[in-house]
Amino acid sequence: MLFSIDHNIHLFDRACQVIPGGVNSPVRAFRSVGGTPRFITRALGAYIWDANGQRYTDYIGSWGPMILGHGHPAVVEAVQKAVCDGFSFGAPTEREIELAEEVVRQMPSMDMVRLVSSGTEAAMSAIRLARGVTKRSTIIKFEGCYHGHADALLVKAGSGLATLGHPTSAGVPPEVIKHTLVLEYNHLDQLEQAFAEHGKNVACLLMEPICGNMNFVRATDDFVKRCRELCTQYGTLLVFDEVMTGFRVALGGAQSLYAKAIPGFAPDMTILGKVMGGGMPLAAFGGRRAVMEHLAPTGAVYQAGTLSGNPVATACGLATLQEISRPGFFDDLSRKTRAFMSGLCQAASMEGIDFCADSEGGMMGFYLLKTLPQNYAQVMKSDSQLFNQLFHGLLSRGVYIAPALFEAGFVSAAHTNSDIETTVEAAREVFKILSK
Ligand SMILES: *Cc1c(COP(=O)(O)O)cnc(C)c1O
Repeated sequence: MLFSIDHNIHLFDRACQVIPGGVNSPVRAFRSVGGTPRFITRALGAYIWDANGQRYTDYIGSWGPMILGHGHPAVVEAVQKAVCDGFSFGAPTEREIELAEEVVRQMPSMDMVRLVSSGTEAAMSAIRLARGVTKRSTIIKFEGCYHGHADALLVKAGSGLATLGHPTSAGVPPEVIKHTLVLEYNHLDQLEQAFAEHGKNVACLLMEPICGNMNFVRATDDFVKRCRELCTQYGTLLVFDEVMTGFRVALGGAQSLYAKAIPGFAPDMTILGKVMGGGMPLAAFGGRRAVMEHLAPTGAVYQAGTLSGNPVATACGLATLQEISRPGFFDDLSRKTRAFMSGLCQAASMEGIDFCADSEGGMMGFYLLKTLPQNYAQVMKSDSQLFNQLFHGLLSRGVYIAPALFEAGFVSAAHTNSDIETTVEAAREVFKILSK
Protein backbone atom coordinates (compact mmCIF):
# COMPACT_ATOMS: atom_id res chain seq x y z
CA MET A 1 0.00 0.00 0.00
CA LEU A 2 1.81 3.06 -1.29
CA PHE A 3 1.86 5.98 1.24
CA SER A 4 -0.53 3.78 3.24
CA ILE A 5 -3.60 5.41 1.70
CA ASP A 6 -6.61 3.16 2.20
CA HIS A 7 -8.22 3.28 -1.22
CA ASN A 8 -11.36 1.50 0.01
CA ILE A 9 -12.05 4.27 2.52
CA HIS A 10 -11.34 6.93 -0.07
CA LEU A 11 -13.63 5.32 -2.65
CA PHE A 12 -16.38 4.75 -0.09
CA ASP A 13 -16.34 8.45 0.88
CA ARG A 14 -16.58 9.39 -2.78
CA ALA A 15 -19.35 6.83 -3.42
CA CYS A 16 -21.42 8.13 -0.51
CA GLN A 17 -21.55 11.58 -2.15
CA VAL A 18 -23.34 10.34 -5.26
CA ILE A 19 -24.82 6.91 -4.46
CA PRO A 20 -27.18 6.45 -1.49
CA GLY A 21 -25.15 4.74 1.24
CA GLY A 22 -22.33 4.38 -1.27
CA VAL A 23 -23.72 1.15 -2.71
CA ASN A 24 -26.21 -0.08 -5.28
CA SER A 25 -27.58 -2.88 -3.09
CA PRO A 26 -27.79 -2.38 0.70
CA VAL A 27 -25.96 -5.49 2.00
CA ARG A 28 -22.77 -4.39 0.21
CA ALA A 29 -22.41 -1.45 2.60
CA PHE A 30 -21.18 -3.65 5.53
CA ARG A 31 -23.75 -1.94 7.79
CA SER A 32 -24.44 -5.02 9.91
CA VAL A 33 -20.79 -6.03 10.40
CA GLY A 34 -19.36 -2.50 10.46
CA GLY A 35 -16.21 -1.33 8.70
CA THR A 36 -15.55 -0.21 5.15
CA PRO A 37 -16.80 -2.20 2.16
CA ARG A 38 -14.06 -3.44 -0.13
CA PHE A 39 -14.11 -1.90 -3.59
CA ILE A 40 -13.31 -4.68 -6.02
CA THR A 41 -11.05 -3.99 -8.96
CA ARG A 42 -10.80 -7.45 -10.51
CA ALA A 43 -11.44 -11.13 -9.99
CA LEU A 44 -10.04 -14.37 -11.31
CA GLY A 45 -10.91 -17.95 -10.41
CA ALA A 46 -11.54 -18.18 -6.66
CA TYR A 47 -10.06 -14.76 -5.88
CA ILE A 48 -11.04 -11.11 -5.89
CA TRP A 49 -8.77 -8.07 -5.40
CA ASP A 50 -9.74 -4.82 -3.72
CA ALA A 51 -8.65 -1.25 -4.43
CA ASN A 52 -5.63 -1.66 -2.13
CA GLY A 53 -4.44 -4.64 -4.15
CA GLN A 54 -5.38 -7.00 -1.30
CA ARG A 55 -6.40 -10.49 -2.46
CA TYR A 56 -9.33 -12.41 -0.93
CA THR A 57 -10.59 -15.94 -1.41
CA ASP A 58 -14.16 -15.26 -2.50
CA TYR A 59 -17.00 -17.25 -0.92
CA ILE A 60 -19.71 -14.84 -2.10
CA GLY A 61 -19.24 -15.30 -5.83
CA SER A 62 -21.43 -12.29 -6.65
CA TRP A 63 -24.05 -13.77 -4.26
CA GLY A 64 -24.25 -17.02 -6.17
CA PRO A 65 -23.78 -16.66 -9.91
CA MET A 66 -20.04 -17.36 -10.16
CA ILE A 67 -20.24 -21.14 -9.83
CA LEU A 68 -17.33 -21.64 -12.24
CA GLY A 69 -15.22 -19.05 -10.46
CA HIS A 70 -14.41 -15.67 -11.98
CA GLY A 71 -13.37 -15.28 -15.59
CA HIS A 72 -13.79 -18.89 -16.71
CA PRO A 73 -12.11 -19.02 -20.16
CA ALA A 74 -15.03 -20.67 -21.98
CA VAL A 75 -17.47 -18.11 -20.60
CA VAL A 76 -15.19 -15.16 -21.33
CA GLU A 77 -14.80 -16.39 -24.91
CA ALA A 78 -18.57 -16.79 -25.40
CA VAL A 79 -19.21 -13.30 -24.04
CA GLN A 80 -16.45 -11.69 -26.14
CA LYS A 81 -17.86 -13.31 -29.25
CA ALA A 82 -21.40 -12.21 -28.42
CA VAL A 83 -20.37 -8.62 -27.75
CA CYS A 84 -18.78 -8.37 -31.21
CA ASP A 85 -22.11 -9.35 -32.77
CA GLY A 86 -24.05 -6.62 -30.98
CA PHE A 87 -25.16 -5.68 -27.47
CA SER A 88 -28.92 -5.73 -27.80
CA PHE A 89 -31.44 -5.96 -30.61
CA GLY A 90 -34.87 -5.90 -29.02
CA ALA A 91 -35.74 -8.71 -31.41
CA PRO A 92 -35.64 -12.49 -30.95
CA THR A 93 -32.40 -14.47 -31.32
CA GLU A 94 -31.56 -18.16 -31.65
CA ARG A 95 -29.51 -18.03 -28.45
CA GLU A 96 -32.65 -17.35 -26.39
CA ILE A 97 -34.13 -20.59 -27.74
CA GLU A 98 -30.94 -22.48 -26.93
CA LEU A 99 -30.93 -21.19 -23.36
CA ALA A 100 -34.64 -21.94 -22.88
CA GLU A 101 -34.11 -25.43 -24.32
CA GLU A 102 -31.22 -26.03 -21.93
CA VAL A 103 -33.29 -24.91 -18.93
CA VAL A 104 -36.30 -27.11 -19.72
CA ARG A 105 -33.95 -30.04 -20.41
CA GLN A 106 -32.39 -29.75 -16.94
CA MET A 107 -35.65 -28.99 -15.11
CA PRO A 108 -38.43 -31.28 -16.34
CA SER A 109 -41.13 -29.46 -14.32
CA MET A 110 -40.89 -26.68 -16.90
CA ASP A 111 -42.16 -26.87 -20.48
CA MET A 112 -41.61 -23.19 -21.19
CA VAL A 113 -39.64 -20.29 -19.74
CA ARG A 114 -39.73 -16.53 -20.14
CA LEU A 115 -36.39 -14.72 -19.79
CA VAL A 116 -36.12 -11.51 -17.75
CA SER A 117 -33.27 -9.49 -16.25
CA SER A 118 -33.44 -10.01 -12.47
CA GLY A 119 -34.81 -12.38 -9.86
CA THR A 120 -37.02 -9.60 -8.57
CA GLU A 121 -38.60 -9.20 -11.97
CA ALA A 122 -39.04 -12.96 -12.34
CA ALA A 123 -40.78 -13.32 -8.96
CA MET A 124 -43.01 -10.32 -9.58
CA SER A 125 -44.01 -11.67 -13.00
CA ALA A 126 -44.58 -15.21 -11.69
CA ILE A 127 -47.02 -13.86 -9.11
CA ARG A 128 -48.91 -11.85 -11.71
CA LEU A 129 -49.11 -14.93 -13.89
CA ALA A 130 -50.33 -17.12 -11.01
CA ARG A 131 -53.00 -14.53 -10.19
CA GLY A 132 -53.99 -14.25 -13.84
CA VAL A 133 -54.26 -18.01 -14.29
CA THR A 134 -56.19 -18.71 -11.08
CA LYS A 135 -58.18 -15.43 -11.05
CA ARG A 136 -57.36 -15.20 -7.32
CA SER A 137 -55.57 -12.49 -5.32
CA THR A 138 -54.05 -14.04 -2.20
CA ILE A 139 -50.46 -15.26 -2.16
CA ILE A 140 -48.61 -17.18 0.55
CA LYS A 141 -44.99 -16.60 1.42
CA PHE A 142 -42.84 -17.68 4.36
CA GLU A 143 -41.11 -15.53 6.93
CA GLY A 144 -37.40 -15.28 6.18
CA CYS A 145 -37.68 -16.24 2.51
CA TYR A 146 -36.57 -13.52 0.08
CA HIS A 147 -38.01 -13.23 -3.39
CA GLY A 148 -36.63 -9.90 -4.51
CA HIS A 149 -38.05 -6.48 -3.70
CA ALA A 150 -41.47 -6.37 -5.40
CA ASP A 151 -43.93 -4.44 -3.17
CA ALA A 152 -46.26 -7.37 -2.41
CA LEU A 153 -43.32 -9.45 -1.11
CA LEU A 154 -41.79 -6.91 1.26
CA VAL A 155 -43.86 -8.07 4.19
CA LYS A 156 -43.27 -9.76 7.50
CA ALA A 157 -45.73 -11.69 9.63
CA GLY A 158 -48.19 -9.94 11.91
CA SER A 159 -48.64 -11.04 15.51
CA GLY A 160 -50.87 -13.97 14.59
CA LEU A 161 -52.02 -15.88 11.54
CA ALA A 162 -55.30 -13.97 11.50
CA THR A 163 -53.62 -10.55 11.52
CA LEU A 164 -52.27 -8.80 8.47
CA GLY A 165 -48.53 -8.63 7.88
CA HIS A 166 -46.45 -5.46 8.09
CA PRO A 167 -44.46 -3.91 5.25
CA THR A 168 -40.71 -4.38 5.73
CA SER A 169 -39.97 -1.24 3.76
CA ALA A 170 -41.22 2.31 3.81
CA GLY A 171 -43.08 3.11 0.61
CA VAL A 172 -45.10 -0.08 0.58
CA PRO A 173 -48.75 0.83 1.30
CA PRO A 174 -50.66 -1.59 3.57
CA GLU A 175 -53.24 -2.08 0.78
CA VAL A 176 -50.53 -3.54 -1.44
CA ILE A 177 -49.62 -6.30 1.02
CA LYS A 178 -53.10 -7.09 2.27
CA HIS A 179 -53.26 -10.06 -0.12
CA THR A 180 -49.97 -11.53 1.13
CA LEU A 181 -50.20 -14.18 3.86
CA VAL A 182 -46.93 -14.70 5.72
CA LEU A 183 -46.45 -18.09 7.38
CA GLU A 184 -43.69 -19.67 9.42
CA TYR A 185 -41.29 -21.83 7.41
CA ASN A 186 -41.53 -25.58 8.14
CA HIS A 187 -44.64 -25.09 10.31
CA LEU A 188 -47.12 -27.77 9.21
CA ASP A 189 -50.04 -26.78 11.47
CA GLN A 190 -49.97 -23.16 10.34
CA LEU A 191 -49.88 -24.29 6.73
CA GLU A 192 -52.94 -26.52 7.23
CA GLN A 193 -54.81 -23.74 9.01
CA ALA A 194 -53.98 -21.15 6.35
CA PHE A 195 -55.26 -23.38 3.55
CA ALA A 196 -58.37 -24.38 5.51
CA GLU A 197 -59.24 -20.68 5.97
CA HIS A 198 -57.98 -19.10 2.75
CA GLY A 199 -57.15 -21.96 0.35
CA LYS A 200 -59.86 -21.16 -2.18
CA ASN A 201 -58.50 -17.64 -2.61
CA VAL A 202 -54.80 -18.47 -2.80
CA ALA A 203 -53.28 -17.97 -6.26
CA CYS A 204 -49.85 -19.26 -5.38
CA LEU A 205 -47.61 -20.45 -2.59
CA LEU A 206 -44.13 -19.05 -3.07
CA MET A 207 -41.17 -20.67 -1.35
CA GLU A 208 -37.41 -21.00 -1.35
CA PRO A 209 -37.02 -24.80 -1.12
CA ILE A 210 -33.65 -24.34 0.59
CA CYS A 211 -33.75 -20.90 2.07
CA GLY A 212 -30.47 -19.12 1.37
CA ASN A 213 -31.80 -15.87 2.70
CA MET A 214 -31.89 -17.41 6.17
CA ASN A 215 -28.33 -18.54 5.40
CA PHE A 216 -29.18 -22.19 4.85
CA VAL A 217 -32.49 -23.63 6.06
CA ARG A 218 -33.97 -26.63 4.28
CA ALA A 219 -37.69 -27.12 3.94
CA THR A 220 -38.26 -30.60 5.36
CA ASP A 221 -39.46 -33.31 2.95
CA ASP A 222 -42.74 -33.54 4.88
CA PHE A 223 -43.28 -29.81 4.60
CA VAL A 224 -42.66 -29.71 0.84
CA LYS A 225 -44.88 -32.77 0.38
CA ARG A 226 -47.73 -31.14 2.28
CA CYS A 227 -47.29 -27.85 0.39
CA ARG A 228 -47.62 -29.82 -2.84
CA GLU A 229 -50.70 -31.74 -1.65
CA LEU A 230 -52.51 -28.66 -0.37
CA CYS A 231 -51.72 -26.65 -3.51
CA THR A 232 -53.10 -29.46 -5.66
CA GLN A 233 -56.19 -29.84 -3.47
CA TYR A 234 -57.03 -26.11 -3.53
CA GLY A 235 -55.98 -25.32 -7.10
CA THR A 236 -53.12 -23.12 -5.87
CA LEU A 237 -49.93 -22.92 -7.92
CA LEU A 238 -46.80 -24.08 -6.09
CA VAL A 239 -43.97 -21.73 -7.06
CA PHE A 240 -40.39 -22.71 -6.24
CA ASP A 241 -38.07 -19.74 -6.04
CA GLU A 242 -34.83 -21.33 -7.19
CA VAL A 243 -33.06 -18.06 -8.02
CA MET A 244 -30.35 -19.11 -5.60
CA THR A 245 -30.63 -22.93 -5.60
CA GLY A 246 -31.22 -23.43 -9.33
CA PHE A 247 -28.09 -24.82 -11.05
CA ARG A 248 -26.33 -24.32 -7.69
CA VAL A 249 -27.32 -27.16 -5.33
CA ALA A 250 -27.72 -29.64 -8.20
CA LEU A 251 -28.03 -29.44 -11.98
CA GLY A 252 -31.80 -29.90 -11.68
CA GLY A 253 -32.09 -27.49 -8.75
CA ALA A 254 -33.49 -28.19 -5.30
CA GLN A 255 -36.63 -29.59 -6.94
CA SER A 256 -34.58 -32.52 -8.26
CA LEU A 257 -33.61 -33.37 -4.67
CA TYR A 258 -37.21 -33.20 -3.42
CA ALA A 259 -38.33 -35.27 -6.41
CA LYS A 260 -36.03 -38.04 -5.13
CA ALA A 261 -37.59 -37.94 -1.66
CA ILE A 262 -41.20 -37.37 -2.81
CA PRO A 263 -42.19 -39.59 -5.76
CA GLY A 264 -43.68 -37.59 -8.64
CA PHE A 265 -42.93 -34.25 -7.02
CA ALA A 266 -42.79 -31.14 -9.19
CA PRO A 267 -43.61 -27.46 -8.58
CA ASP A 268 -46.06 -25.72 -10.94
CA MET A 269 -43.71 -22.82 -11.58
CA THR A 270 -40.02 -22.14 -11.01
CA ILE A 271 -38.13 -18.87 -10.70
CA LEU A 272 -34.47 -18.80 -11.75
CA GLY A 273 -31.64 -16.29 -11.79
CA LYS A 274 -28.08 -15.98 -10.44
CA VAL A 275 -26.12 -19.02 -11.80
CA MET A 276 -28.37 -19.07 -14.85
CA GLY A 277 -26.87 -15.76 -16.00
CA GLY A 278 -23.30 -16.67 -15.05
CA GLY A 279 -22.79 -13.15 -13.64
CA MET A 280 -24.80 -11.18 -16.20
CA PRO A 281 -28.25 -9.68 -15.53
CA LEU A 282 -30.43 -12.63 -16.49
CA ALA A 283 -33.27 -14.49 -14.79
CA ALA A 284 -36.32 -16.49 -15.79
CA PHE A 285 -39.61 -17.93 -14.70
CA GLY A 286 -41.18 -21.01 -16.18
CA GLY A 287 -43.61 -23.82 -15.74
CA ARG A 288 -46.10 -26.05 -17.46
CA ARG A 289 -47.24 -25.05 -20.96
CA ALA A 290 -50.86 -24.58 -19.88
CA VAL A 291 -49.74 -22.02 -17.29
CA MET A 292 -47.10 -20.24 -19.35
CA GLU A 293 -49.37 -19.75 -22.35
CA HIS A 294 -51.40 -17.30 -20.28
CA LEU A 295 -48.54 -14.82 -20.79
CA ALA A 296 -48.76 -12.13 -23.47
CA PRO A 297 -48.71 -12.32 -26.45
CA THR A 298 -50.53 -15.70 -26.34
CA GLY A 299 -52.44 -14.91 -23.16
CA ALA A 300 -53.91 -12.05 -21.17
CA VAL A 301 -51.18 -11.64 -18.53
CA TYR A 302 -48.92 -8.76 -19.54
CA GLN A 303 -45.16 -8.97 -19.06
CA ALA A 304 -42.33 -7.41 -21.09
CA GLY A 305 -38.72 -6.19 -21.02
CA THR A 306 -36.50 -4.06 -23.30
CA LEU A 307 -33.38 -6.05 -22.40
CA SER A 308 -35.09 -9.43 -21.75
CA GLY A 309 -33.13 -12.29 -23.30
CA ASN A 310 -30.21 -9.94 -23.94
CA PRO A 311 -27.77 -11.56 -26.41
CA VAL A 312 -24.64 -11.00 -24.28
CA ALA A 313 -26.32 -12.18 -21.07
CA THR A 314 -27.75 -15.28 -22.74
CA ALA A 315 -24.30 -16.13 -24.18
CA CYS A 316 -22.84 -15.89 -20.67
CA GLY A 317 -25.62 -18.00 -19.16
CA LEU A 318 -25.51 -20.61 -21.87
CA ALA A 319 -21.72 -21.05 -21.63
CA THR A 320 -22.03 -21.36 -17.84
CA LEU A 321 -24.77 -23.99 -18.06
CA GLN A 322 -22.74 -25.95 -20.60
CA GLU A 323 -19.76 -26.10 -18.22
CA ILE A 324 -21.77 -27.15 -15.18
CA SER A 325 -23.57 -29.93 -17.05
CA ARG A 326 -20.31 -31.84 -17.54
CA PRO A 327 -20.39 -35.26 -15.83
CA GLY A 328 -19.13 -35.18 -12.25
CA PHE A 329 -19.25 -31.38 -11.94
CA PHE A 330 -21.65 -31.35 -8.98
CA ASP A 331 -20.03 -34.38 -7.32
CA ASP A 332 -16.70 -32.55 -7.16
CA LEU A 333 -18.28 -29.30 -6.05
CA SER A 334 -20.38 -30.99 -3.34
CA ARG A 335 -17.38 -32.87 -2.00
CA LYS A 336 -15.35 -29.67 -1.71
CA THR A 337 -18.16 -27.72 -0.08
CA ARG A 338 -18.84 -30.49 2.44
CA ALA A 339 -15.13 -30.75 3.29
CA PHE A 340 -15.08 -26.99 3.87
CA MET A 341 -18.08 -27.08 6.21
CA SER A 342 -16.82 -30.07 8.17
CA GLY A 343 -13.40 -28.39 8.48
CA LEU A 344 -15.03 -25.30 9.98
CA CYS A 345 -17.17 -27.40 12.34
CA GLN A 346 -14.10 -29.25 13.60
CA ALA A 347 -12.10 -26.07 14.06
CA ALA A 348 -14.93 -24.40 16.01
CA SER A 349 -15.55 -27.45 18.16
CA MET A 350 -11.87 -27.65 19.13
CA GLU A 351 -12.18 -24.13 20.52
CA GLY A 352 -15.48 -24.88 22.24
CA ILE A 353 -17.52 -22.54 20.04
CA ASP A 354 -21.14 -23.42 19.22
CA PHE A 355 -21.20 -23.93 15.49
CA CYS A 356 -23.18 -25.91 12.93
CA ALA A 357 -23.22 -26.02 9.16
CA ASP A 358 -24.98 -27.53 6.19
CA SER A 359 -24.40 -27.55 2.46
CA GLU A 360 -25.76 -28.87 -0.81
CA GLY A 361 -23.84 -28.75 -4.08
CA GLY A 362 -21.94 -25.47 -4.09
CA MET A 363 -24.19 -23.70 -1.57
CA MET A 364 -23.42 -23.62 2.14
CA GLY A 365 -24.45 -22.03 5.39
CA PHE A 366 -23.23 -21.99 8.96
CA TYR A 367 -24.55 -20.70 12.26
CA LEU A 368 -23.01 -19.90 15.61
CA LEU A 369 -25.62 -22.19 17.15
CA LYS A 370 -25.56 -25.73 18.56
CA THR A 371 -28.10 -27.12 16.10
CA LEU A 372 -29.35 -26.14 12.65
CA PRO A 373 -32.36 -23.80 12.75
CA GLN A 374 -35.63 -24.63 10.99
CA ASN A 375 -37.24 -21.21 10.76
CA TYR A 376 -36.62 -17.48 10.95
CA ALA A 377 -37.10 -17.13 14.72
CA GLN A 378 -34.46 -19.79 15.36
CA VAL A 379 -32.06 -18.22 12.85
CA MET A 380 -32.44 -14.91 14.70
CA LYS A 381 -31.00 -16.52 17.84
CA SER A 382 -27.57 -16.67 16.17
CA ASP A 383 -24.96 -14.53 17.97
CA SER A 384 -24.48 -11.53 15.68
CA GLN A 385 -21.71 -10.02 17.81
CA LEU A 386 -19.67 -13.19 17.50
CA PHE A 387 -20.44 -13.43 13.79
CA ASN A 388 -19.18 -9.89 13.19
CA GLN A 389 -15.89 -10.74 14.92
CA LEU A 390 -15.60 -13.90 12.85
CA PHE A 391 -16.34 -11.94 9.67
CA HIS A 392 -13.65 -9.32 10.33
CA GLY A 393 -11.19 -11.93 11.54
CA LEU A 394 -11.57 -13.79 8.26
CA LEU A 395 -11.56 -10.64 6.13
CA SER A 396 -8.27 -9.49 7.63
CA ARG A 397 -6.86 -12.93 6.78
CA GLY A 398 -7.91 -12.65 3.14
CA VAL A 399 -11.19 -14.55 3.29
CA TYR A 400 -14.31 -12.87 1.93
CA ILE A 401 -17.60 -14.25 3.25
CA ALA A 402 -21.02 -12.59 3.20
CA PRO A 403 -21.04 -9.48 5.44
CA ALA A 404 -24.31 -10.55 7.06
CA LEU A 405 -25.35 -13.36 9.32
CA PHE A 406 -28.35 -14.39 7.24
CA GLU A 407 -26.68 -14.93 3.89
CA ALA A 408 -25.62 -18.22 2.36
CA GLY A 409 -22.10 -18.75 1.05
CA PHE A 410 -20.84 -20.29 -2.16
CA VAL A 411 -17.95 -22.45 -3.28
CA SER A 412 -17.00 -22.47 -6.96
CA ALA A 413 -15.34 -25.00 -9.21
CA ALA A 414 -12.25 -22.76 -9.13
CA HIS A 415 -11.70 -23.20 -5.37
CA THR A 416 -8.95 -25.78 -4.81
CA ASN A 417 -8.59 -28.10 -1.85
CA SER A 418 -5.67 -25.96 -0.79
CA ASP A 419 -7.80 -22.76 -0.90
CA ILE A 420 -10.23 -24.47 1.42
CA GLU A 421 -7.51 -25.76 3.78
CA THR A 422 -6.02 -22.27 3.98
CA THR A 423 -9.45 -20.82 4.78
CA VAL A 424 -10.08 -23.42 7.50
CA GLU A 425 -6.66 -22.57 8.99
CA ALA A 426 -7.60 -18.87 9.02
CA ALA A 427 -10.91 -19.71 10.69
CA ARG A 428 -9.06 -21.82 13.28
CA GLU A 429 -6.95 -18.78 14.24
CA VAL A 430 -10.04 -16.60 14.54
CA PHE A 431 -11.96 -19.19 16.60
CA LYS A 432 -8.97 -19.40 18.96
CA ILE A 433 -9.14 -15.64 19.54
CA LEU A 434 -12.95 -15.67 19.91
CA SER A 435 -12.89 -18.46 22.48
CA LYS A 436 -10.88 -16.26 24.87
C1 LIG B 1 -31.31 -13.18 -5.14
C2 LIG B 1 -32.66 -13.71 -4.99
C3 LIG B 1 -33.79 -13.08 -5.55
C4 LIG B 1 -33.70 -11.72 -6.22
O1 LIG B 1 -32.93 -11.74 -7.37
P1 LIG B 1 -32.34 -10.34 -7.91
O2 LIG B 1 -31.68 -10.72 -9.20
O3 LIG B 1 -31.39 -9.85 -6.86
O4 LIG B 1 -33.49 -9.42 -8.10
C5 LIG B 1 -35.01 -13.71 -5.47
N1 LIG B 1 -35.15 -14.88 -4.84
C6 LIG B 1 -34.10 -15.50 -4.27
C7 LIG B 1 -34.31 -16.83 -3.61
C8 LIG B 1 -32.84 -14.95 -4.31
O5 LIG B 1 -31.81 -15.55 -3.69
